[in-house]
Amino acid sequence: MKCISGKRAYVSEQLATDALLEAHIHFDYRTGTGPTTFYKCEDCGNYHLTSQGAMHARLAEALANGTIQKQKAATEWNNKFKKR
Ligand SMILES: [Zn+2]
Repeated sequence: MKCISGKRAYVSEQLATDALLEAHIHFDYRTGTGPTTFYKCEDCGNYHLTSQGAMHARLAEALANGTIQKQKAATEWNNKFKKR
C-alpha cells in the first residue's frame, strides 16, 4: 500500500499510535524533534506520522511517565544480548 506522499501508511489509529511510540523508542530524537502525532491522509485514507502539530496525548504520557525510557533500555539490552 503506497501513498503518493511517500510516507509509511498505517491502516488504523491504533497502529499509528504504536508506530509513533515505537519511533521514539528506537530513535534518539532530541527534544522537539521526531514525529509528534499522526493524521488521516486524504490521498490514501490511512494514517501517517508527522512532526507537525500538537503532541499526541499517548506519546506525551509515555515520555512523561518514563515508558519510552524504559522500553529504550529494554531494546538496547536485547540488541546487546543478540550480538553475543
Ligand atoms: Zn497517504
